[in-house]
Amino acid sequence: MGHAVPGSARGSPRSVGPGAEDPTWKQMSHRILVVEDEPDLLEAVVFALRKEGMKPIPCKDGEEALRLVKERRPDLVLLDLMLPGLDGIEVCRRLRASEETARIPIIMATAKAEETDAVIGLGVGADDYMRKPFGLKELVARVRSLLRRSAEPPEAAGQPIRYGELEIDSARHEVRLRGKSIPVTATEFRLLVYLARNPGRVYSRAQLLDKAVGTDVIVIERNIDVHISALRRKLEDYGDRLLTIRGVGYKFVE
Ligand code: CA
Repeated sequence: MGHAVPGSARGSPRSVGPGAEDPTWKQMSHRILVVEDEPDLLEAVVFALRKEGMKPIPCKDGEEALRLVKERRPDLVLLDLMLPGLDGIEVCRRLRASEETARIPIIMATAKAEETDAVIGLGVGADDYMRKPFGLKELVARVRSLLRRSAEPPEAAGQPIRYGELEIDSARHEVRLRGKSIPVTATEFRLLVYLARNPGRVYSRAQLLDKAVGTDVIVIERNIDVHISALRRKLEDYGDRLLTIRGVGYKFVE
């Protein structure tokens, strides 16, 4: 059972993963896989990321995206929802289903106006989504924010938090249910740690966004609901410990 380092530095040629306290982290060239079938937009995004000192890897379709993730080990994937052949949802689902790629940070981009597409995207494990058309400045801010969130451990590594047969292990960045590792995304992990660390305490969606997701970008509070639903499914019989407090937010019950 592999234990991914947050920030998906594992398998990269770098010997040290990005860390919050590492002053060189900001200067590191993060590899961003940009999956976009619209040539003009792909070019614009690649240009914007390169200007920020990142290393964009351009990609035009879903099959190529899956191959490039394995070959190039990007630090983050920017994934268009509507793609010819394998669409973004399917790419996201496959990346999440593989132990090797389950924790790669993913931002999904959708051209459709319907919020349901974004909700589906988060439901299959994207960490964030952006609605098209988006500004390149906002895109860069989102990418930076997610890279930072994924690199920082949600708390100092210590003893795993245990509730019955559920173990939340910050040192290994892993959630185990009855001894078996559960694939959770970086955002889901942070949310779970945050709630489970203070059982019984009610947190508003705004607080959870602030503490577990990050407020340096505009994210709708409803995203929290989608991440919580995904967590509940993954936690099986422990899922109902994540209690909805109507009109307020959530709490973890012991
Ligand atoms: Ca498209």
